[in-house]
Amino acid sequence: MPTTSHETKRALVAGGAGFIGSHLVDRLLASGYEVVALDNLQTGRTTNLEHLAGDPRFSLVEGDIIDPLPRAITGKRFDRIYNLACAASPPHYQADPEHTMLTNVLGTRNLLRLAEEQRARFLLTSTSEVYGDPEIHPQPESYRGWVSCTGPRACYDEGKRAAETLTFDFARLGRADVRVVRIFNTYGPRMDPQDGRVVSNVICQALTGEPITVYGDGSQTRSFCYVDDLVEGIERLMAFEGEQPGPVNIGNPHELTVCDLVERVLTLTGSGSEIIRLPLPQDDPRRRKPDTSLARALLGWEATVPLQAGLEATTAYFAAEMKRHGPMFRFGATYREPTLAAAE
Ligand code: UDP
Repeated sequence: MPTTSHETKRALVAGGAGFIGSHLVDRLLASGYEVVALDNLQTGRTTNLEHLAGDPRFSLVEGDIIDPLPRAITGKRFDRIYNLACAASPPHYQADPEHTMLTNVLGTRNLLRLAEEQRARFLLTSTSEVYGDPEIHPQPESYRGWVSCTGPRACYDEGKRAAETLTFDFARLGRADVRVVRIFNTYGPRMDPQDGRVVSNVICQALTGEPITVYGDGSQTRSFCYVDDLVEGIERLMAFEGEQPGPVNIGNPHELTVCDLVERVLTLTGSGSEIIRLPLPQDDPRRRKPDTSLARALLGWEATVPLQAGLEATTAYFAAEMKRHGPMFRFGATYREPTLAAAE
C-alpha cells in the first residue's frame, strides 16, 4: 500500500512523454497537481517534457505499463490516473502489433488495478478507431462500429475496444471510478515529425519542398481537433461528477478530405511541393467525423480552435524544430502495408 501522505493532489499520466500526454501534463501542473509521467519512450519523447526540467512537482519514470508497475509508481499515492500509453499512429502501432494489443489489455489492467488499490479516478483514452470504417456518419457513442478483427489495424482498434471493456467491467464491479474518452484525430505542436500522420507529414513535406504523399485519391475524410481543445475535453470529463456517462467522443466536427487539408497547408506555407499518390492503406476508414452532442450536453464542451489557427501554430512548431535540428531533422514514416507471412 502507498505510504506517502500528501496534501497536493497527484496525477499519474501514463504516456506522459507523448504528444497529447505532454500537453495534459502541462495542464495538470498549471491546475496545481503534482504529476508523475510514466512512459516507455517507444514513441514518447523526452524533448516534449524538457521545459519541465527542475520543476519539483514533476517527475518522469521510464517504464512500460505492460510490466509490473515500478516502485517509483506504486510507492506513491495518486488521485487521478490517466492512461494515454499506446503508440497511436498506424506505422508505429503496426511495427509491433503484439505489443500494441498487450499495452491496451495488460497495461490498462495494471493501471486499473492501481486505481482500484488507491481509490484513484481512472481515465482511459480510447479512440475513434473503435468505430472502424463507419457505416454511420457522423459517429455517436452509441454506434458499435465496423472493425475488422483480423486486419492490420486490429491490434490497435481491437486493443482499445478490449481496454474499454476492461475499464467498464471494473466500473460495473465497483472496483474503480472510471472515465473513457474516445479521441478523434488530433494535431498540434509536439506531434512527432516521424509519426507518419497526415498532418505532420504534409506540413513537413510542404516546409521542406518534398513531395506531398496522398494515400489513395485523397477523398477520404477526417476531422482534426487542436490539442488544446482535446485536453480541455479530457479534463472536463475527468472532473465530471454525475452518473457514469459511458464513453464520450472528443473531437472537432469540422470534416475535410485529405486533399482539402493538403490545399490548406500548401496555401499556408506558400510551398511549391508536388503531390504524389501512394496506395490507400488497407482498412483505412473512408470517413470520420465525431458526433459531439454528448460532450456538449454533459460537459458543455465543444472545439473552439479553428483549423486555420491550429495549422498555423503547428506549422510554426515544425518550422522551429527544423531550425533547431538543422540537417539532422528527420520526418515522415511512409506507410508500408504489413503482410501475412506464408505458412511453412
Ligand atoms: N494519409 C495520407 N498521407 C500521409 C499520411 C496519411 O494521405 O502521408 C492519409 C491516411 O491514409 C488517412 C488520413 O490521411 O486516410 C489520416 O491518416 P493519419 O495516419 O493521420 O490518421 P488515421 O488514419 O489514424 O486517422
